[in-house]
Amino acid sequence: MTTGALYFEPQLRVLPKLLAWFDRNRRDLPWRRTRDPYSIWVSEIMLQQTRVAVVIERYTAFIERFPTVGSLALAAEADVLALWSGLGYYRRARMLHQAAKVVVAELDGHLPANAGDLRQLPGIGAYTAAAIASIAHGEAVAVVDGNVERVVQRLAGMGSEASDGRAGLDRQIRLFAEAMLDPKRPGDHNQAMMELGATVCLPRNPLCLQCPLVANCKTRGEHPTPTRARMLSQDAAYALVLRGGAGDPEVLLEQRGPAETVMPNMWELPALRAADTRESAHRMTLRHAIMQVNYAVRVFSVAEAEVTASADSSARRRWVPVGELTSLPLTGLARKVLERAKLASFGRRVPQ
Ligand code: SF4
Repeated sequence: MTTGALYFEPQLRVLPKLLAWFDRNRRDLPWRRTRDPYSIWVSEIMLQQTRVAVVIERYTAFIERFPTVGSLALAAEADVLALWSGLGYYRRARMLHQAAKVVVAELDGHLPANAGDLRQLPGIGAYTAAAIASIAHGEAVAVVDGNVERVVQRLAGMGSEASDGRAGLDRQIRLFAEAMLDPKRPGDHNQAMMELGATVCLPRNPLCLQCPLVANCKTRGEHPTPTRARMLSQDAAYALVLRGGAGDPEVLLEQRGPAETVMPNMWELPALRAADTRESAHRMTLRHAIMQVNYAVRVFSVAEAEVTASADSSARRRWVPVGELTSLPLTGLARKVLERAKLASFGRRVPQ
């Protein structure tokens, strides 16, 4: 395999086609209406592992509540997590919050303007640094995310593995993406590549007939797409415990421990052991996916004593007035159950 520049040389003519296509087809997304590096940073962190439709709903509320890096740095972590509810992968929110504090404390409130310095901040990797630097500051640095990887592999006809393994393949993809980068409009070019991967060069059944690069593509979709890891299935049971009358209802919630690897410190419904569930108390069943696990979740309306008998007694529990639910950092599953039970409305669709 040759270097990216040589490898790609015959294809440099695709650049005008790609940007012309992007200019005609770009989706009007809230974070594309700004060059503010902080807003772009927030959107890029949210977009990691979360669908665009969900991010649109959460991004606007987050930016309204924390319009500057300074306002985010001053916020309490619980408020940041509450605004992040529904996006999942809460470690991203904590890192964003932590990095905002570093920017304020050490950089006088100004985000670095180049990718190399951006990468020194907590939670900002090569992808996010390149996205912020190219879109907000016009730095000619290529973004390589999963979508770009797929487009590049198909365009160049790369195999799914290089002779020197995965690291070698990553290097080839990066070289190719860098050779392809349009130095005059690097931010738009990077967004065009990501957009092409997200809307046309789809993982399965790419829409090659709609692709602006079809004449330059070495595979036109005839390329092995790595198979996704299989989802696991698991059962889970939770308790919905209420007290108070119709005028002043409260719901029993418990807080996950600070050392939990998933969603530490978030609030959720108390879990029940399967052996302690009663069919007569069954209230609803729903599906919920976390990472690679699909949960079949059964929710039971029970009394507090049944929870105490069944669940881990070390959990921190609290009676929460229904009116305060929306300001608490809740897990996605808790939000889903509370909405389904008509105890809270989060004003947007809860992600599946
Ligand atoms: Fe992807 Fe098809 Fe376009 Fe090639 S022609 S880049 S496979 S959508």
